[in-house]
Amino acid sequence: MIRYGQQDITQADIDAVVGVLKSVNLTQGANIPKFEWSVMARTGARHAVAVNSATSALHIACLALDLGPGDFLWTTPNTFVATANCALYCGAQVSFVDIDSRTYNLCPRALEEKLIEAERVGRLPKIVAPVHHTGQPCDMEAIHALGEKYGFKILEDASHAIGARYKGEPIGSGRYSDITVFSFHPVKIITTAEGGMALTNNDELATRLGLLRSHGITREPELMTQLMDGPWYYQQVALGYNYRMTDMQAALGVSQVARLAHYVKRRHEIADRYNTLLANLPLTLPWQHPDSYSAYHLYVIRLQLENIGVSHLEIFEALRAKDIMVNLHYIPVHTQPYYQKMGFRDGDYPEAERYYREAISIPMHPALTDADQEFVVEVLREAMEV
Ligand SMILES: *Cc1c(COP(=O)(O)O)cnc(C)c1O
Repeated sequence: MIRYGQQDITQADIDAVVGVLKSVNLTQGANIPKFEWSVMARTGARHAVAVNSATSALHIACLALDLGPGDFLWTTPNTFVATANCALYCGAQVSFVDIDSRTYNLCPRALEEKLIEAERVGRLPKIVAPVHHTGQPCDMEAIHALGEKYGFKILEDASHAIGARYKGEPIGSGRYSDITVFSFHPVKIITTAEGGMALTNNDELATRLGLLRSHGITREPELMTQLMDGPWYYQQVALGYNYRMTDMQAALGVSQVARLAHYVKRRHEIADRYNTLLANLPLTLPWQHPDSYSAYHLYVIRLQLENIGVSHLEIFEALRAKDIMVNLHYIPVHTQPYYQKMGFRDGDYPEAERYYREAISIPMHPALTDADQEFVVEVLREAMEV
């Protein structure tokens, strides 16, 4: 079976996890700050808060940015549901901005049009959450400029994009956003099994993220609002959660992140090879903006259905029948039943819907061999009957 994405685990990874299991601290040990520091060192962010998933990171990021009832978060419909759900957790509302037809990322022109209308009716968003789909950075300069003009905060969902660069700078640097979130789910670029991280350059946001991760509890005297009773003392100063990452996971993260550059380089080699192998087929290959260096979490092809005699579904099924576990990223969030109940309709975001009817994520991960790639291309060619 060839999967669309999968983890790469080395002996060093295994040794790191076993080392923690033989130690005193299975959680809240030295590996958490070590992992946070190693991600900060690779991104240039001033603060990092490791948590048990990107979904948790998105949730506490929204809370740290004061998102609540009466507020709006806007994101792209072409994302995993978590990017939108995090706003609903906070009692806020969600709306979407359609995608750019070439990058499949949130379209800054569509964003500006929607902002003009929202300003007119007095419903501007508090947060805009761009998603670096497939690992290709969004047009952050344009989104940031609109943020300055219309006064919204920017939460980057960089679940696909650790190791990516925008205008030469690592995603996570925070130059164009308030908080950036990474995911370490096994299909992503590096893994901690489950896990995520929130990065920021803002001291106050970092303090809030740290409190929200663990019950709103602090042991630091300067964060306490009453005098310390004694050395056993802690204080709850906010309502937080238990979103902590374990030390086994953090040790795995430290070991994995050391290979980040290698992984992204390997993903580019695979993408380049697909670009060559697929060049003469009736497909739209992943266009890359010159400002971006993608992390290539995904390699998405789009079928030029007008030039193909068979359907999207048939091609998908033909690949799966040969144990090529292709996937589709993403079903537009606004078409999910839960979102349709909130009043969203098919047709609301036509570009994301058109993308959904044509897109297939073909296998992309560091362990993919040349023979695997050739097999995928051969099965695809046969399935398309061209
Ligand atoms: C994977 C993913 C998430 C959720 O990540 P978890 O770590 O599984 O919570 C959120 N947003 C996007 C775009 C993702 O790809």
